[in-house]
Amino acid sequence: MSDYVKSLMAEVRTKNPAEPEFHQAVEEVAESLSLVFDRHPEYRTAKILERIIEPERIITFRVPWVDDQGEIHINRGYRIEMNSAIGPYKGGLRFHPSVTLGILKFLAFEQVFKNSLTTLPMGGGKGGSDFDPKGKSDLKIMRFCQAFMNELFRHIGPNTDVPAGDIGVGGREIGYLFGQYKKLRNEFTGVLTGKGLNWGGSLIRPEATGYGAVYFAAEMLNTRNQTLEGKTCLVSGSGNVAQYTVEKLLELGAKVVTLSDSNGYIYDEKGIDYEKLQFIKELKNVRRGRIKEYTDRYKHAVYTVLDPNADYSPLWDHKAHCAFPSATQNEINGKDAENLLRNGVYVVSEGANMPTTLEGVKIFLDAKILYGPGKAANAGGVAVSGLEMTQNSMRLPWTREEVDQRLRMIIHGIHKTCIEMAERFGTPGNYVNGANIGGFLKVADAMIDQGVV
Ligand code: NDP
Repeated sequence: MSDYVKSLMAEVRTKNPAEPEFHQAVEEVAESLSLVFDRHPEYRTAKILERIIEPERIITFRVPWVDDQGEIHINRGYRIEMNSAIGPYKGGLRFHPSVTLGILKFLAFEQVFKNSLTTLPMGGGKGGSDFDPKGKSDLKIMRFCQAFMNELFRHIGPNTDVPAGDIGVGGREIGYLFGQYKKLRNEFTGVLTGKGLNWGGSLIRPEATGYGAVYFAAEMLNTRNQTLEGKTCLVSGSGNVAQYTVEKLLELGAKVVTLSDSNGYIYDEKGIDYEKLQFIKELKNVRRGRIKEYTDRYKHAVYTVLDPNADYSPLWDHKAHCAFPSATQNEINGKDAENLLRNGVYVVSEGANMPTTLEGVKIFLDAKILYGPGKAANAGGVAVSGLEMTQNSMRLPWTREEVDQRLRMIIHGIHKTCIEMAERFGTPGNYVNGANIGGFLKVADAMIDQGVV
């Protein structure tokens, strides 16, 4: 670690105590950017990274709501408006009991670089609540979403800040949030993305993150003249990103053998085919059940409980070629990374945000596998959100083919940027440096142009 990164991190830790995920995200970026600062001291003089680290605005608010039994609940709501140098704040909302300020700051920080990589005009933001939607009725979810929007509506707008979904926030929640915003503001605008197709949503938005992570893996494999055909893949999670990752992998001829939720994972040696995927979509999106039920239906598959206190995850300990972590942050630690390599995995494309610890990242980089960090590999979701904003502004929807083609082009472009930046700064094949540097330069130059604000 350079002296610059050391002193920067000491300050970040002091100023932002108890936010380990935020420290982790900043440290990874700062390491990459030291390569840039050696050649371009002007960015250091202008304190660009120091400015990016400090959110432009943080909003926290009380979310009181009454459930269907008349009981009062109080949750905490957040919106982190991280950086608006290249466009309105843009980033998802997460509803999960683990949500803290530090988690949302790490996500908002990552989002700044990711959005810049897409080449679309979007700044970075993130928000959410410690509300737990699991097992709650539609009515409870609606009441919470309305209470959440009763405050959030003051701070967002189609040219200011445009939230989307993330963990625990899918089409249902976006619908309730949008409805309440429309009522409060009395205007129909593209203030949220991930909307339903009948009311301003874009085709391919639900699919975009998962499809994009697979396109990114295909781009990486292409550098070795290989394809995904016949590759065995480990996928974690079973939500939005995981489902569409599996769908695209099947389409490209790969075999998927795992899926998980926060309780456990299933291993299906025969592979998850379209029919089984349909079962999972129904299970997770309609019945909102647990992944364990997969083995009730498909008896040959094996379910294993995941122990959150164990020092490794058995999900990452199966023979495979590719891994698509698509659940949550830090789901692959150093030991898991070693296990993946030992089992033959040489492609990791991150659908989730920061699913690999710093130790795990170092192991992947040292092994020189094809490692696509989340900032680059999962940027397809926000990219299509950006395309949804464009369609809303034009009041003109595009066809599925048109959106998918643009998504592919954007992922191709992000991959190219990563390769070129990694090479330009002396670390060929290092997608982490490539993504961090590529994302940074555009934002940094815009910040310099706009003065100290
Ligand atoms: P969903 O809520 O649809 O699914 C999340 C999945 O991950 C569920 O299977 C959930 O299991 C599991 N999960 C959540 N938290 C944990 C945890 N602490 N430990 C183990 N498993 C967990 O969310 P998404 O699919 O949208 O998001 C998944 C990841 O992808 C996140 O990191 C998100 O930030 C990232 N991402 C999402 C984008 C999007 O467009 N949706 C865009 C870019 C990145 P359970 O049901 O038990 O909670």
